[in-house]
Amino acid sequence: MQTASEAYFIERRCFQPAYLRLYESGELKRRVELALDKLADCRLCPRDCGINRLQNKFAVCKTGRHSVVSSYFAHFGEEDCLRGTRGSGTIFFGWCNLRCVFCQNYDISWRGKGRAAPPDELARMMIYLQEQGCHNINFVTPEHVVPQILEALPLAIQRGLCLPLVYNTSAYDSLDSLELMDGVIDAYMPDFKFWDAEMARRYIKAPNYPEAARRAIREMHRQVGSLVFDEKGLALRGLLIRHLVMPGDIAGTQQIVAWIARELGPDTYLNLMDQYYPAGKVSGAEYVEISRRITSKEYWVALEAARAAGLCRVDPRAPAKHLAIWQ
Ligand code: SF4
Repeated sequence: MQTASEAYFIERRCFQPAYLRLYESGELKRRVELALDKLADCRLCPRDCGINRLQNKFAVCKTGRHSVVSSYFAHFGEEDCLRGTRGSGTIFFGWCNLRCVFCQNYDISWRGKGRAAPPDELARMMIYLQEQGCHNINFVTPEHVVPQILEALPLAIQRGLCLPLVYNTSAYDSLDSLELMDGVIDAYMPDFKFWDAEMARRYIKAPNYPEAARRAIREMHRQVGSLVFDEKGLALRGLLIRHLVMPGDIAGTQQIVAWIARELGPDTYLNLMDQYYPAGKVSGAEYVEISRRITSKEYWVALEAARAAGLCRVDPRAPAKHLAIWQ
């Protein structure tokens, strides 16, 4: 009989990235065509702009035909199960479909720092990261460039790509986009930011965010299930939810963790993040109420809420740090 912890492990030699099967069957080619067609009347995220990005027109996400990449490198700041010993192969996309006033990557997400990356260039970056020894390819802020990622993927596969793909998102994704990624993405990593529509309107300029995020995360979970690791503790497949604890609990942490446990199950992997700091448009003059870091007490209240909800797989790094502060 399988024990509970064994249920979250698979042998590396038994793992094959999901997208290779789609590539071999010809389905990936069909997805690429479908995805590019959708750029002509872009409703790839819940903003539903309806503009023609094939003609290089742009709206909220300021991205036309090609993606913008700000940087790509082996990232050692991600969760242990992603960074391992050789780093997570992150590709940071420029621009964003949200407008978080506290954005910690303001130059990248609000100002679009980076350069256009046509499909061949994007494929080259994936191969470069694989050759560096990274454990996965980690697409950061990919919501508005799903067709562009799909378009680059066959080119990377032809050059030998075989790493798991991680979709590192704010969870402001449409079901249409996620359907395109079904069987392509190995691990989804949504950041569930806000529970309440009014808070989402004020702080990320998207009142429909909570509803859209709940819908998207349910779909991600349906596609990939609970997070599973290999023998070395590296994530191979599944759902890893992030949640940033905010000052004064404006994010609605208690409701979010309760929803995760209830809707997705107590074994959902959660990283309860403590690293909020005032950035972007937040200052002593604007959004003053969040112009501070969280306290250790606020973090512990959040952690207790996760425990009370029954969540049993909370990423250990942040709790361990606070324990060290308190001792
Ligand atoms: S991906 Fe960009 S253009 Fe398309 S709906 Fe979203 S914000 Fe609008």
